[in-house]
Amino acid sequence: MIKNIFKTDDITRLEAIIAEGKFFVLTCHAGPDGDALGSTLGMAHYLQTLGKEAVVIVPDAYPDFLAWMPGSQEIVRFDKHRDKAELMIAMADIIFAMDYNALSRVDDMGPLIEKSKATRVLIDHHLSPDKFCALSFSYPQLTSTCEVVFRLVVAMEGYDQLTKAACECIYAGMMTDTGCFSYGPCTQEVYLIISMLMQKEINKDRIYNKIFNNYSEGRLRLMGYVLYEKMRVFPEHHAALITLSREEMARFDFNKGDTEGLVNIPLQMKGIYFSAFLREDTEKDLIRVSLRSQGTFPCNKFAARYFTGGGHLNASGGQHHGTLQEAITLFE
Ligand code: 5GP
Ligand code: MN
Repeated sequence: MIKNIFKTDDITRLEAIIAEGKFFVLTCHAGPDGDALGSTLGMAHYLQTLGKEAVVIVPDAYPDFLAWMPGSQEIVRFDKHRDKAELMIAMADIIFAMDYNALSRVDDMGPLIEKSKATRVLIDHHLSPDKFCALSFSYPQLTSTCEVVFRLVVAMEGYDQLTKAACECIYAGMMTDTGCFSYGPCTQEVYLIISMLMQKEINKDRIYNKIFNNYSEGRLRLMGYVLYEKMRVFPEHHAALITLSREEMARFDFNKGDTEGLVNIPLQMKGIYFSAFLREDTEKDLIRVSLRSQGTFPCNKFAARYFTGGGHLNASGGQHHGTLQEAITLFE
């Protein structure tokens, strides 16, 4: 069995919140990734198994390669169905903040969540969470928010109630946040958790294929174009830079999520320990920044100093308000 890492008081409070709660709204950060969707859907499945009414509201679009996740058809997109989402947030007596550490990461949903009278519970693995929740489970030392969810369910003695659907979502988030268990804190307990998920008969190979062997032609050609034409290497600094304009993304029929993971590729080069990806957002004069490193180079400090961002030692992000060229100059 995996060890309990939580304070007994916190688990007791969470159990009471779940027992008393009637309408649960589960939210995650904008630009939801595998861990954001996996943790919200995984937790929603668990609550539903307990007979609770639970809905997932996401700020905006998520990638097509995550649309297989059980429960994704019922997700409410805030940017598309604002009135419905607002009503649900207002009606909620419990709001879960999953996979984000600050209300700024849920865009326009932030003020509504802040205004809501619901009891807020944070479940996350990002550093330095803001204090906007009555109860917080913040574990930056764990692989993923999905891992926190799984451990919480086990700590509440709910493993038997976890369905295969919940386990598929949880596995997907753990897998994507660790690059298929190749980086991040993949301790021996992580493998124990994988084993416990497999006991629920998840098909891990099918999940892998749905996520990683499911690219559109445009995405694969975009990867080729980026690596051949757009990657700049700075050997003296052990660094590489990729940039993409809106026009280039449009040329490759860009879909949400098509650039996910691109920033990791330059790290496959011998001697490259720092990789940056700058891309124009759909919002004018906004440049999105993704940074990755290997070893001790703190890309979260780099993001904080130059791109008003932050994150983890080896994976961080931020933004620049201005042109792509300005952001490139800043990086250089
Ligand atoms: P990604 O490159 O996948 O968008 O972001 C990688 C990580 O960087 C995220 O998991 C998050 O921890 C962090 N991050 C991304 N953007 C921001 C930002 O604007 N502010 C902060 N503090 N962290 C960010
Ligand atoms: Mn995550």
